[in-house]
Amino acid sequence: MSTLEKIKILNDSAQYDLCDYVNHNKSSQVNLPGIYHAIGHNGCKIPLFKTLLTNKCKNDCKYCINQSRRNFQRLELSPDELAKAFLKYYNQGLVNGLFLSSGIDKDEDTTMEKTIETIRLLRQDYGYDDYIHLKIVPGASKDSIKRAMALSNRVSINIESATASGLEELSSTKDYNKDILKRLHWIDSLHRKSTTYPNLTHTTQLIIGANSESDMEILQRMEKIYNKTKLKRAYFSAFTPIRETELESKTPCSTNRTTKLYNADSLLNDYHFKLDEIIFDENNQLSLSEDPKILAAKNMDIFPVEINTAPFVELIRVPGIGVKSARKIISIRKNIPFTNKNELKKLGVVVDRAEKYIKIAGAFQSQLDNFN
Ligand code: SF4
Repeated sequence: MSTLEKIKILNDSAQYDLCDYVNHNKSSQVNLPGIYHAIGHNGCKIPLFKTLLTNKCKNDCKYCINQSRRNFQRLELSPDELAKAFLKYYNQGLVNGLFLSSGIDKDEDTTMEKTIETIRLLRQDYGYDDYIHLKIVPGASKDSIKRAMALSNRVSINIESATASGLEELSSTKDYNKDILKRLHWIDSLHRKSTTYPNLTHTTQLIIGANSESDMEILQRMEKIYNKTKLKRAYFSAFTPIRETELESKTPCSTNRTTKLYNADSLLNDYHFKLDEIIFDENNQLSLSEDPKILAAKNMDIFPVEINTAPFVELIRVPGIGVKSARKIISIRKNIPFTNKNELKKLGVVVDRAEKYIKIAGAFQSQLDNFN
């Protein structure tokens, strides 16, 4: 089998590993396997070479295409084969970086050694100095994590679920606290304590809708992690049933649910909301029809806030005002007070959403419209 044929299969096997925010058509315009158009927080598209080193896996995660009980074509690339294939894409300008993950064939350490060897070849033997995102496998040794971090721009370990019992519903071979959370905290403390990884970030991923966990449990876990670590962000992968798995007849998770989880997670991570400010229904789920920030605002007694005097923490609670625009408002008003909503529009405030929650120079902007 040619390397390209292997990449096609391994890229399909990596389809549920995410490194972007939105659900979109990920197919490449170039007819080559392995190209993944990640979409960043600000909407920019970043073509990455995304593959597994191997789709062989000893674990039995019920949602996963690569789980040990499935009978399908298993294969692997050698580190040098993968490094050279990636460089061909990179040198032709087809991709801007590598997103490398792997099933766990024999054991965790052997898998980590192979993925580290792949990126070591790229960095040290082939002189590649651009973006690498490497997945750390659950159960990886601290030494291998350290070496992986020294060669990567980003590392991530998938926590997959919000609780130990939630993971037990999905896998009998992974230990939530020992194999996953402990490793996430190792990554974080290595990152904080050492100057070896100045620009490194770390992230995680959860599979949503494969077990019985509620949105509240998911966001509770995320709040704890954001409070204790410098995790950059979480990705939410909507569960899709895979043929020949225990969950093949389970209902898929709607991408509307993961979108609302992204919105609420951003409130915790970027806007520093507390979990008890987010509104859940009687089943501890987020609303699928309303934006979590607008719902939260309906339950706050701080509105309307005065644009010329409100503290940062109140400005960012206004629907339509983001972290960046709140900072700009505070910087500008030190010298020139705001007098009308058009001035806010120029800063990127979504005035249609914000106007009923704010006053400018003592006046409600939506009421002023009635007199114009
Ligand atoms: S560890 Fe689990 S999720 Fe990862 S490849 Fe193996 S079966 Fe899939």
